[in-house]
Amino acid sequence: MFGRKKSSEPTPQEVEVFGSLRCVRDPYLQEDLVELDYVRNCSINEGKVKLELVLPSPSESYQRDLRTRIQEVIKGIPWVKDFQLDFRVEIPSSLPKNAMENLRGIKNLVAISSGKGGVGKSTVSVNLAMALAKLGAKVGLMDADVYGPSVPKMLASKDSPTGQGEKLFPIERYGIKFMSMGLLTGEDSPVIWRGPMATKLIQTFLAQVEWGELDYLLIDLPPGTGDVQLTLTQTAPLTGAVVVTTPQEVAVNVTMRGLKMFDEVNVPILGVVENMSGFVCPHCNEETQIFKQGGGERTANELMLRFLGRIPIDPKLVQAGDEGNPVLNLEGDNLPSSAGAFSSVADELASQIAMVARHSKEKEVIEKIGFENGQIVMVWKDHMETRIAPRDLRLACPCAECVDEWTGAKILEEKKVPLDVHPRSFKMIGRYAVQIAWSDGHSSGIYTFDLLERSFRKETPKGAELPSLNA
Ligand code: ADP
Repeated sequence: MFGRKKSSEPTPQEVEVFGSLRCVRDPYLQEDLVELDYVRNCSINEGKVKLELVLPSPSESYQRDLRTRIQEVIKGIPWVKDFQLDFRVEIPSSLPKNAMENLRGIKNLVAISSGKGGVGKSTVSVNLAMALAKLGAKVGLMDADVYGPSVPKMLASKDSPTGQGEKLFPIERYGIKFMSMGLLTGEDSPVIWRGPMATKLIQTFLAQVEWGELDYLLIDLPPGTGDVQLTLTQTAPLTGAVVVTTPQEVAVNVTMRGLKMFDEVNVPILGVVENMSGFVCPHCNEETQIFKQGGGERTANELMLRFLGRIPIDPKLVQAGDEGNPVLNLEGDNLPSSAGAFSSVADELASQIAMVARHSKEKEVIEKIGFENGQIVMVWKDHMETRIAPRDLRLACPCAECVDEWTGAKILEEKKVPLDVHPRSFKMIGRYAVQIAWSDGHSSGIYTFDLLERSFRKETPKGAELPSLNA
């Protein structure tokens, strides 16, 4: 903990420095810097203190805030004559160890969603990706808006992705990697996808694109809550979702309905972005609230969600989108106001992700599930082992074929389930459930960790007589 060999005793001065650091709390994680184990190195020599801290977020405002507060407490120690503070960023991963193989180099998967089209979701996705990359992060962008892929145009790319066998390699542009249906079909071809084709495409993108190492992969979803969204939440262990809305009441209402879906599949909402929020006249600098203001923020507050910030209406954004030169790529003093707004939303988002990443490990309730010696074995996050008789779990199937969706009454006829029914395969669904294919041909049951915890969690020693739910 003192950034040196554990065997050596800390000096009284080190104890004093660490005592001061205990007075500084991470504003997001709400724990002090020593508890969070941020200090990597501490050297003290004749009143000169040198500290190196490893932080989980590249956010500039977060780092500025921490720097000021650390300087305050360390410089308040009477014998400190000189103080040097270095930060290093190590973005933590929120993905479980059992994520799909080609996603394992990715630390965080973030869906960008909206309740309806035209609120600027793709514009926000592209510019947030750029802003995160500007903070030094390795960023990818997956354009899953299969019905209207606009990312290739916004990034002015006509390149076709290359492939090798089953693998597809993303295109690199402005320091971010991206993949889009638009790259495969061409910008101008109409995209007419039936639901199953769209979901198949998302699965292909998730399973076959070789992203390599990324700190963040942003996924630009189609608007609303349809098959694509559901497939994504069921196939990929999302870190969370960002919701983009415009300030009008109607947009906000539609957006908020969509939030329920993420809630149901245990995907945290990282925050709300209010886009097209106010117009600043480029001539007189006066701000006009074309769509009113604050709808997104108000609703975020009501639902206790984080408000990530607002992006003004900016004609330069339209031009930048059309020309394929994102505002975050512009240089010089004349940066449009939206560029600063995106940077500040990216700052806030990076810190939210760090927070979710720290807590996500607690949320994956089941580490492993398998079939062993005629029993289903589940190993929970806290290492507790539960063994279940396969037929008991089969009879507890919550799917619509087994349970009436409206009344909750069981419709599965128990006597039709063979006594020796057993699982043929298990599939982890996102970070909230497991799907089981059974030997009686039934495979539509998705058992949420919640359900398994409520109905089955208890310690069962190996070889124990299995209690039957149906005894
Ligand atoms: P969505 O992905 O939600 O359908 P887009 O990102 O494609 O929306 O944006 C729709 C249109 O609105 C585009 O022409 C885009 O340039 C424009 N736009 C988006 N956000 C802003 C903004 N803050 N100011 C001005 N125009 C914007």
